Amino acid sequence: MRDEMRMIVCLKPVPDPKYWKNLTIDPVLKVLVREGMPNVINPLDRNALEEALIIKERRGGEVIILSMAPPFCLSVLREALAIGGDRAILLSDRAFAGSDTLATSYILAEAAKRLAPFDLVLCGNETIDGGTAQVGPQLSQFLGLEGISFVCRVEEFLFEEGKIRSLIVRRKTDAGYLSMEVRLPALLSVVKEANIPRYATFMGILEAEKKEIQVWNGNDLNIDSSRIGLTGSPTKMSNLFMPELKRKREIVKGTPEVVSSLMIDKIHQAGLL
Ligand SMILES: Cc1cc2nc3c(=O)[nH]c(=O)nc-3n(C[C@H](O)[C@H](O)[C@H](O)COP(=O)(O)OP(=O)(O)OC[C@H]3O[C@@H](n4cnc5c(N)ncnc54)[C@H](O)[C@@H]3O)c2cc1C
Repeated sequence: MRDEMRMIVCLKPVPDPKYWKNLTIDPVLKVLVREGMPNVINPLDRNALEEALIIKERRGGEVIILSMAPPFCLSVLREALAIGGDRAILLSDRAFAGSDTLATSYILAEAAKRLAPFDLVLCGNETIDGGTAQVGPQLSQFLGLEGISFVCRVEEFLFEEGKIRSLIVRRKTDAGYLSMEVRLPALLSVVKEANIPRYATFMGILEAEKKEIQVWNGNDLNIDSSRIGLTGSPTKMSNLFMPELKRKREIVKGTPEVVSSLMIDKIHQAGLL
């Protein structure tokens, strides 16, 4: 328990959706070819960062950006610092390439352990490229923390002897919302409803130039090399392909009654209803 909140925000650089039509798949490894693609902060990770910045404004503390990505993603981390992160760690090593979600979570967990003590780890609920929503829950297990996904608000701080002991968070469910108490340290996976992320200001961009980005490789972490990379990943891709878009155009003529009944027949025939 502490007076201030020391927070780690896990941030994944993802290919900029504007250029997705240029994305290709490695035919042998069955992974996205990310080299040469412009990258941006995964959208929900902006919400995770914003939540951390709001907490820091309310309670004080530090916001550390943690990312596992190739070195060409440094500019994405610099943007997170311009938005308000205090410092950043980039985990980059050729041995990390090909890691599935379990191996990624394991590597992130070992880095978080090196950054301990911390009060909160914040993730986006899911990414726009892999989109498995597995990294947050797996990371919480590796760190032995309470993990809550679909978090849409940090509602309250609960204190013990003047120090922050736990949080009340609001979680989205299929039926509505659920308020839960979570003891710190904890991991929260954040959804879009949580907040409206701020953008970098001109002053923020200038200040980010002075902030530290450390690059850690496998030797900086206490890592079992048999649990990382393509060979250390239990997920084996049997196939990965771009969907083929087939469009068929047909003009249906007639009175509104004839056209609507024809349309219903066609929708049934296509198995869409
Ligand atoms: C066999 C295999 C090989 C792969 N090879 C590669 C590869 O070579 N290079 C590659 O980039 N990807 C690779 N991937 C994809 C990679 O495993 C996932 O992108 C990664 O594990 C995150 O999964 P996700 O996108 O589903 O994240 P989700 O679980 O949807 O992410 C949830 C949240 O976790 C956090 N998070 C996720 N990933 C990271 C990260 N890397 N750093 C910091 N925070 C993160 C973010 O806060 C994010 O919002 C491979 C996947 C497989 C199955």
